[in-house]
Amino acid sequence: MIVVMSADRTDDQLNHVVQMVEEMGLTSHVIYGTNRTVVAAVGDKRMVDKGALENLPGVEKIVPILSPYKVASREVKQEKTIVELQPGGAQIGGTGFGVIAGPCSVEDRSQLLEVAHAVKEAGGVGLRGGAFKPRTSPYSFQGLAEKGLEYLAEAREQTGLAVVTEVLTVTHVDLVARYADVLQVGARNMQNFMLLNTVGAQGKPVLLKRGMSATLEEFLLAAEYIINAGSSKVILCERGIRTFEQYCRNTLALSMVPAVKRVSHLPIVVDPTHGTGHAYMVESMSLAAIAGGADGLLIEVHPDPEHAMTDAAQQLDIPHFQQLMIKARRVAEAVDRKI
Ligand code: PEP
Ligand code: MN
Repeated sequence: MIVVMSADRTDDQLNHVVQMVEEMGLTSHVIYGTNRTVVAAVGDKRMVDKGALENLPGVEKIVPILSPYKVASREVKQEKTIVELQPGGAQIGGTGFGVIAGPCSVEDRSQLLEVAHAVKEAGGVGLRGGAFKPRTSPYSFQGLAEKGLEYLAEAREQTGLAVVTEVLTVTHVDLVARYADVLQVGARNMQNFMLLNTVGAQGKPVLLKRGMSATLEEFLLAAEYIINAGSSKVILCERGIRTFEQYCRNTLALSMVPAVKRVSHLPIVVDPTHGTGHAYMVESMSLAAIAGGADGLLIEVHPDPEHAMTDAAQQLDIPHFQQLMIKARRVAEAVDRKI
């Protein structure tokens, strides 16, 4: 980091800053400019609280140089991370483009199996479906819990699709990991640090959804927790953020795709379903995500969206999903990706 001294700083103040920087275990280089003196503090500053320097007399501001995340960054790992959804199975982050689709909630056996076969036939690689649902209201459908996981496992047996499902709490990680191929950490839990540590330690890939008010830095620091806990198999998911706009459920920040690609080696998929909240917007945002360099999509599909127990307005029916997949293939081809 760079400590910029104020124009009227005294030599004593400068010496004190240098002393503090050295006390922090960093090496200091003082650079005298025409109007300003700056102290370059060299070393790993991630464990250092730069706030301690900010209030010292004679200091104008602190300018960080390195990103606060490390193992999720390109500074540490140049080559892209490719995540296998199942050992030896479909990949997210390679030259292929992966579509993970399925209902918002697992509602019953026939609903799930119908969607699973449709997703497989249309060319999807993963089956999503919530067995444990994070609901705003405690009176809303909370999911089928373990029964839902059993249906997901049965759907995998029949189709070969990788199962992606959400884990809501630390105490469910073992249970969910017994059935799922990929553990989803939802937007509301992106900064549940205990959960991040526990899903990171269990070894299977993790799909980490961006918190609805999380910055890119917070998103990558959440991924950093998972990687530090033991799993490098992290797939990021942009699912939209809360803004002043009320028309859409969320504002889908597709610009996160090139941003993540620039600063991180982790793959990123886009969820245009929660990102918009409206079924009619899902196709166009999906195609935009592919064209914009995303590594995959997470899409909600339901055999009868009108009667869905959760998120009825945003789920695609099967014919619309099939139509989307045909167009998605064409766009993917145009940007040298294969579905
Ligand atoms: C989901 O994908 O089922 C979900 C609950 O999404 P989010 O965590 O992004 O709101
Ligand atoms: Mn949903």
